[in-house]
Amino acid sequence: MHDIIIIGGGPAGLTAALYACRAGRSVLILEKNTLGGQITWSPKVENFPGFSSISGLELADLMTVQATNCGAELELNEISNISEENGVFTLSTPYGDSYSCRAVIIATGAKAKKLGLEHEDALIGAGISTCAVCDGEFFRNKVVAVNGGGNTALQEAIYLSQICSKVYVIHRRSEFRADSAVVDSAADRDNIEYILNSTISAVHGDGKLSGVTLRSTVDGTEKELTLDGLFIAIGHEPENGFASQLIRLDQAGYADSGEDCKTIYPGIFVAGDCRKKEVRQLTTAVADGAVAALAACRYLDNAR
Ligand code: NAP
Repeated sequence: MHDIIIIGGGPAGLTAALYACRAGRSVLILEKNTLGGQITWSPKVENFPGFSSISGLELADLMTVQATNCGAELELNEISNISEENGVFTLSTPYGDSYSCRAVIIATGAKAKKLGLEHEDALIGAGISTCAVCDGEFFRNKVVAVNGGGNTALQEAIYLSQICSKVYVIHRRSEFRADSAVVDSAADRDNIEYILNSTISAVHGDGKLSGVTLRSTVDGTEKELTLDGLFIAIGHEPENGFASQLIRLDQAGYADSGEDCKTIYPGIFVAGDCRKKEVRQLTTAVADGAVAALAACRYLDNAR
């Protein structure tokens, strides 16, 4: 049995592991997809103190190595349920495995949102993607669009502008949510064109994306746009359903906790983008990781 199991191996989970291991606890990180979480797909991170510019993948690797060097164990597995009896938590997977521990840190981050359009699922991997770093190369010298107006959308557009012949940025408003430094950097690219005040009302393609229908948010008029690729970057949503019987989630599914990273269930802590908070950034995720780990260590001290 481990002292602490951390569900999720993104920046919050890896930082929690670092702090808990350094406090002398036995720690297991369970990650269902990719160690490093969302930043793994960020072509460039330029707002993490200490690095003026670093690829998300490289930063994720550095964090992983640092956590494991301190003694954190890592396993790829998915948790679908948590229960507790006599101070011992049992974490079960959909595949029949289970793990036990005395404290849990949920650091599951958030997954990319989809548009919710007909045919969208069928075209994912056939022209539609949620990750420019992963799939951009498939669209070399082709025409693509990025949907969204946040940091992810504009960073992906900048990244794709170096690979693709043309990159449209489709955004539902006329102002961007992205940081002005990123907006300015995108504005410098000649092959990025903005389609503002517009949403995507339909995606088209028989086995492969051929284009989208754009709808004006000003007057509702529609027009067609021919595309080879579409990158959806309209934000993220949490995946905390597996813990909903023990902890409180808000309407959007984010774990309800204060800055102390405690949930209503003693022994369960939350860190990073999966929790209800004002600012979801790499820096706030790693800060949560430290807070949650130290809170979990205090909980274990008091539970003796
Ligand atoms: P975000 O900041 O929430 O932006 C989502 C964008 O998608 C917004 O522009 C939003 O439009 C638009 N949108 C949402 N739902 C939509 C829909 N149904 N249809 C059309 N458009 C829709 O998400 P994000 O860009 O993924 O960033 C998430 C967090 O990570 C942010 O805090 C961001 O700053 C951070 N991040 C940081 C870095 C970095 O380098 N440090 C890189 C990437 C992301 P509205 O603006 O109209 O709401």
